[in-house]
Amino acid sequence: MYRTHTCGELRNEDRGKQVILAGWVQTIRKFGAITFIDLRDRYGITQLLFGESLNKQLDGDPLGREFVLQATGIVSERSNKNPNIPTGEIEINVSSFQVLNRSLVPPFTIQDDTDGGDDLRMKYRYLDLRRNIVKRNLHLRYEVNRAARNYLHHQGFIDIETPFLIKSTPEGARDFVVPSRMNPGQFYALPQSPQTFKQLLMISGYDRYYQVVKCFRDEDLRADRQPEFTQIDCEMSFVEQEDILNTFEGMVKFIFKEVKGIDFTEKFERMSWEDAMRYYGNDKPDIRFGMRLAELKSPFKEEERNTFRKEIEASGFKVFNDAELVGAIAVPGCSEYSRKQTDELTEWVKRPQIGMAGLAFVKYNSDGTLKSSVDKFFDEAKLKSLTEKCGAKPGDLILILAGKEERTRKALSDLRLEMGERLGLRKAEEFKLLWVIDFPLFEFSEEDNRYVARHHPFTSPKPEQVHLLSDSSQYGNIKANAYDMVLNGNEIGGGSIRIFQRDVQEKMFVALGMSKEEAQNKFGFLLGAFEYGAPPHGGIAFGFDRLCAILGGSESIRDFIAFPKNNAGRDVMLDAPSSIDEKQMEELQIRLDVKKG
Ligand code: ASP
Repeated sequence: MYRTHTCGELRNEDRGKQVILAGWVQTIRKFGAITFIDLRDRYGITQLLFGESLNKQLDGDPLGREFVLQATGIVSERSNKNPNIPTGEIEINVSSFQVLNRSLVPPFTIQDDTDGGDDLRMKYRYLDLRRNIVKRNLHLRYEVNRAARNYLHHQGFIDIETPFLIKSTPEGARDFVVPSRMNPGQFYALPQSPQTFKQLLMISGYDRYYQVVKCFRDEDLRADRQPEFTQIDCEMSFVEQEDILNTFEGMVKFIFKEVKGIDFTEKFERMSWEDAMRYYGNDKPDIRFGMRLAELKSPFKEEERNTFRKEIEASGFKVFNDAELVGAIAVPGCSEYSRKQTDELTEWVKRPQIGMAGLAFVKYNSDGTLKSSVDKFFDEAKLKSLTEKCGAKPGDLILILAGKEERTRKALSDLRLEMGERLGLRKAEEFKLLWVIDFPLFEFSEEDNRYVARHHPFTSPKPEQVHLLSDSSQYGNIKANAYDMVLNGNEIGGGSIRIFQRDVQEKMFVALGMSKEEAQNKFGFLLGAFEYGAPPHGGIAFGFDRLCAILGGSESIRDFIAFPKNNAGRDVMLDAPSSIDEKQMEELQIRLDVKKG
């Protein structure tokens, strides 16, 4: 027997028991004739005490960090207790031990505040995974997985696996492809998601499907993305949008309860895509804090979206006058910002990532007086009215950006998030969830000079707007039965009610600029299946890695993946991707002509 207990298990009540532990040597502390060793495994750390005679043995053949050790001894009460660990009241008085395996000196210390840099830890990820902090993350991941599965199981969903070697399904990203040896010159694609399969399963009658599944997208890895990532992928038949929102709001609430002990009693807020863009400048608003955007002037006709337009037109201030959008946020409690601070914010919005020409501000002092960088153009009364339009209070600093609509809205959103961050309003331990609904069906791609699906080509228009699919001048006005779940400014899930009639799906493909032949070639299987009794259906997929990261209070999904890739999409431990040998290439009948950059 290798062990009777784990290294996290023994307590004072176990005093006097003879036990065997096995684990890794965390630390070695020698005090004259005795040696203390902290032995670590997945469950914790237990202190081992080696007395005089064993010490001699150790001197002859010293242990090192990360040696795998088996020790037999008696559980004894510690004189010097450590209240910081669960086993801190006891130690094992070792009577015999055995080195099960030796270890080289690890390239970095296996502890929470390790001295290992990112690259080194990834290269030796199997050592990094021994660290508590990473272990905790993987545990949390498992708990989220288990909670999701339990919930879905009790709701009658079944887990059905779908293939990885498939034909490409366009979900907006590039496919990873796999050459087929048996079909020379032909390629499989790895799924960007099991989208078409889950729809086929609905047609087959499996009306509640789920899968915790790998998805593959060959995207440039900006920000915190991975080329392979995991989704909780779900689909239901005979449902409307409302049924899906309720079912999956239930799932997320259940996960929060199980994993974090947090009970959300209220229904999640629902916000239209239009409102999200208008008040937050993006479609995944962080609603942990206010500071909603105020439109002083916008390209929209409505008066409430042009609350200050007349004053701007009368002011002679060219910057505002020429702008498509003049928007503002009232930042609470910052009216006393110094010149230096407002200058720094101006520089911040001028950075290329934000791309604004400048920043205007109004300080609404606590005594009610106003001071502004645009005093020249707006008198006191006008400025006062501006503060009201922004819903500002005494003590607020109003920040104003002006320019082209899209860029300005994005910049306002970025500025809002930045100020939220600086004021400590984006707390990792606070969780605010909402649904964003009523997305546009299409968005116009300047690059391709055509409309592309905002979600994916299988998303249904609102039922009352299906007829608009026959009129290309209306594409921009069609709304979809599509929805995203947003958590603390991150899209954690997204889905839609699907098209389930062949003719509507065909129209959709036409709208996306696909010829009949192309549609038939790429999606003949789905179009064909729609003709054999396809039920109304819809679904959603959650970004499992991201959900875990947010629940774990981290910005980085990599921390929650056992073997992640780096920012260049490389696995530095395996050194993948890598070239394959000539024999393999020959079998695949592929000859390389790589352009060396
Ligand atoms: N397949 C979609 C995605 O990966 C989710 C869905 O519509 O269910 O985004």
